[in-house]
Amino acid sequence: MNVDILLGKTTEHLVPLPGTKFLIHKLMLQDFLLLQKEAKEEGFDLQVISAFRDYERQLKIWNLKASGQRQLIDDQERPLEFSKLSPLEVMFAILRWSALPGCSRHHWGTDIDVYDGNTQTPEEVKLVPSETIGEGPSARLHDWLDSRMSTNNAFGFYRPYATDRGGVSPERWHISYHPLSRRCLDNFTFSLFKRNLEESDILLKEQLLENADEIFQRYFLNVDLP
Ligand SMILES: [Zn+2]
Repeated sequence: MNVDILLGKTTEHLVPLPGTKFLIHKLMLQDFLLLQKEAKEEGFDLQVISAFRDYERQLKIWNLKASGQRQLIDDQERPLEFSKLSPLEVMFAILRWSALPGCSRHHWGTDIDVYDGNTQTPEEVKLVPSETIGEGPSARLHDWLDSRMSTNNAFGFYRPYATDRGGVSPERWHISYHPLSRRCLDNFTFSLFKRNLEESDILLKEQLLENADEIFQRYFLNVDLP
């Protein structure tokens, strides 16, 4: 597999999702449109709020958070005070909610963040847990997706961040196309992970390299499987 695909450094594997500005993996398009059609028949408007994200974009997100220019939040969505955190605490706070550049499943084009377009506008979507559970605006869509995923595999889509495994925070809005994303995960080696860090212009690099083994296990490999 082309490592540039794994690291978000090429768009060769992607196509536009019709009617949107988003790019997704070309081999996933058909099945996503089928899932979207079925959702529509159930009264939901299954829409994408984030799809492919490239390396540079992820690097920018990381560095803004690592330099205190973008708000960090805790597990309960409460703001954290940047100036009171050690570099190590900042690193772990970011990892809970944001992937390392080069290690985002959004690089692969196989993973998307979704919401119900019948109940939220794109501008309203914040991608926080409260939107997707209880009385949250996209909760009913996600309940339907749960039942669809458990009965007959939802065309290959599933939730890699369904439960809290002590790494990435649960992200109910994030769904993944398993036939392709599993291959990406299986091809992503620790040596690639480490080389990517060493060659990156990333902030907190020293802390990241010191904890590379733990981070690779806990925040990258440690996902739910279908
Ligand atoms: Zn996501």
